[in-house]
Amino acid sequence: MERRLYIETYGCQMNVADSELMQGLLDRAGYTRVERADEADVILVNTCAIREHAEQRIYGRLGELTRHKLRRPGVVLGVAGCMAQHLRAKLIERVPQLDLVVGPDGYRHLPELIDEAREEPTLAVRLSRVETYGDLVPARADGVRAWVSIMRGCDKFCTFCIVPYVRGRERSLPVGDVLRQVEHAAAEGFREIVFLGQTVNAYRDGDVDFAELLARANRVEGIVRIRFTSPHPSDMSDRAIEALAACEKVPPHVHLPLQSGSNSVLERMRRTYTMEEYTALVGRIRRAVPGVALSTDIIVGFPGETAEDFEATRVAMRRIGFESAFVFKYSPRSGARSAEWPETVDEEEKTRRITLLIEEQKGTSLLKNQADIGSIAQVLVEGPTRRNPLEWFGKSAHFKTTVFPHRGESVGDLIPVRVASATPHALLGEGVRAASFAATEDATV
Ligand code: SF4
Repeated sequence: MERRLYIETYGCQMNVADSELMQGLLDRAGYTRVERADEADVILVNTCAIREHAEQRIYGRLGELTRHKLRRPGVVLGVAGCMAQHLRAKLIERVPQLDLVVGPDGYRHLPELIDEAREEPTLAVRLSRVETYGDLVPARADGVRAWVSIMRGCDKFCTFCIVPYVRGRERSLPVGDVLRQVEHAAAEGFREIVFLGQTVNAYRDGDVDFAELLARANRVEGIVRIRFTSPHPSDMSDRAIEALAACEKVPPHVHLPLQSGSNSVLERMRRTYTMEEYTALVGRIRRAVPGVALSTDIIVGFPGETAEDFEATRVAMRRIGFESAFVFKYSPRSGARSAEWPETVDEEEKTRRITLLIEEQKGTSLLKNQADIGSIAQVLVEGPTRRNPLEWFGKSAHFKTTVFPHRGESVGDLIPVRVASATPHALLGEGVRAASFAATEDATV
């Protein structure tokens, strides 16, 4: 039987890591990887359900992929991930050509599920309280950065989010499994580890908390940087902050989702912290890690967000001075608590609010980046930019995209780059013109 596998991935880094996990599992089951759907006998689409828009896009793509089944009826077409878990059997009703629907906790049995799906449509959407896949070895894509999921699921139940419903309750991988994965990634030549979890700093395995995990990972040879995403402000303990300061491989950058600067909105979002607590936390992090770069996530137009609430977010962003921010328009998600609440901010106003925040953040990011001019950025080299093969890029310790003229450096080198100029999106070394580096190469502001 032909076993050629093609996986297409949508959504967040967690999904990228899950696809690598599925790939590793199916490699060992005898599947060969192919880069195009038309070469595959098994096509898996690993999906995201975080926004309605993401689902619509995936429906469109599934429509295209069903054509492969018409031409080659033996092809198995499967949907994995959050959308599979969210819609379950409804997905097969909507796309009857689907053979397999598998949720995030069903991957361990993928080889058998695919065999079953060759015979009849198969559904595997039971959530687990214990599955972590800690013992499985992912097949990681090339590059400098290895994604390591250290926990799965979420217990926070923010009212706008369906993650706890589609990825289940919070569980941490055993510390031995995490460290084995870090060592394995180092042996494969990866230079940077990114610990992943919906609330990554809530990690706990017995006595080992997130702080201790960072300290242990910090001792793994070969790895030069350890990043993590996304921590929840309420889970950022003093011990974790001390570890950020003490572990020399943990760079001075923290992505700390704020979501809103208004306490009443934060409360309705059920974020479990107030603006005052968030600000105090930022103060503690900045005192412990001088010069730390902060980035964040913001939602505008949440149900009930008044002009004053929005203003509070605007002021908060200005006062804190984030290096960069992902700003989103609120959109209701069926299954999430807030989807039951009437929307009070119309589309036009949401657009006005998001545009304002993005513009202001661009100004802040530019000032922050310009402040680096003349300094030396330590850059972990990732490769050539898309526009110019003679100009390469990598991330600075502050997680800023840094572009430099290529003079023989290799992917994975850690090099000093003197910052000569800056845009809101990047630091530029001597001889790199701002125009040659497109803002689209790094979509954050
Ligand atoms: S912390 Fe909130 S936003 Fe993040 S995954 Fe959990 S429920 Fe969703």
